[in-house]
Amino acid sequence: MVLVELATGTIVADPDEVATVLEPTADEAALSAAAGGNAGPIAIAFPSFTDGRGFSLARLLRERHGFKGEIRAVGHLIPDHGQFLLRSGFDTAEITDPDAVQVWKASLERIRHNYQPAVRNPLPLRWDASSKAAGMLDETLGKTGDLVSRIKEVAAQIEGRIAFSTSLGLEDQVILHAIAKSGVIKSGAEIDVFTLDTGRLFPEVLETVELSELRYRIRIRLVAPDAQEVEELVSRDGVYGFRQSVENRKGCCEIRKVRPLNRALEGAQGWITGLRREHSDARAEVPLAAWDADRGLTKVNPVADWSTDTLMAYIAANNIPVNPLHARGFVSIGCAPCTRAIQPGENPRAGRWWWENEDKKECGLHVNENGKEKEKAA
Ligand code: SF4
Repeated sequence: MVLVELATGTIVADPDEVATVLEPTADEAALSAAAGGNAGPIAIAFPSFTDGRGFSLARLLRERHGFKGEIRAVGHLIPDHGQFLLRSGFDTAEITDPDAVQVWKASLERIRHNYQPAVRNPLPLRWDASSKAAGMLDETLGKTGDLVSRIKEVAAQIEGRIAFSTSLGLEDQVILHAIAKSGVIKSGAEIDVFTLDTGRLFPEVLETVELSELRYRIRIRLVAPDAQEVEELVSRDGVYGFRQSVENRKGCCEIRKVRPLNRALEGAQGWITGLRREHSDARAEVPLAAWDADRGLTKVNPVADWSTDTLMAYIAANNIPVNPLHARGFVSIGCAPCTRAIQPGENPRAGRWWWENEDKKECGLHVNENGKEKEKAA
């Protein structure tokens, strides 16, 4: 067994003894206890190399629980994990196969060459996806008139996987249409189109998924929440527990939306969203593209500057399939039990979590670097 320091690729000669081992199923209480109880190394277990839950746990320890000590990856790891371990906040990795040590060192050397690590944990910055590059992309998109050209520009400028999280809303359908029309996927761009299947979606949303797949010949990946987390949530709060308190509701959104989104964005270099400035005051200054330091990727909002009139005209002109619920007064469509139709002239947010105070309506999908909600989630 060899312990390697990820940032330097060097072998740790005299490793500290692990104080806590977290399994991938660790819940908030376990994370809090591990982070608060000691400064010693916390080991996070990877039971198989395809199980990525450990990456999320490390990020939660760093970002939510402020853990500053050593986080060690243990279990079934492969050298390709090095980059993601670093990005998620790990310091060290245990290598069980002594023959693999040289491969790990070579892999970490390559990562060090291409990545710029920050101070302690950190989210290494890719040179070509840095804040400056994102700013330049924002400028270029501002000068690029039509949406298809904007998508082509995004695909050309961002290397690696570009995640497109769609809620099948009007903006997202327009973006999907433009992605298909641009031909960037056929040309080799790695655009990962997915939606968060919270388990509480309207059947009409799933119908729209199928209709869109048939029309555009693009698979829309359904990203599900962790089954065990959902079981524990429902057994603790009840099947409609999210109606009982804001805290419960945020807990439900955290498990059914935020964590699955975080998992889906892991390792992505870009993230396309349908945010528009007209949505709300909080979104009034949403850029076309910006560096998301928190996630270490370039966030692209290609219809940020579109008006509602432009959006509706584009949908009509291109016969874009839309969720039939829009015709029945639903504007911002989320989970079925938490969304209702609104009256003409009513604030679109009135159709979401209507039993709560306005200022509590947030679910954390779009947060700024300080952890505060900057834009209301779709
Ligand atoms: S919108 Fe409602 S059902 Fe959906 S995740 Fe949030 S609280 Fe749960």
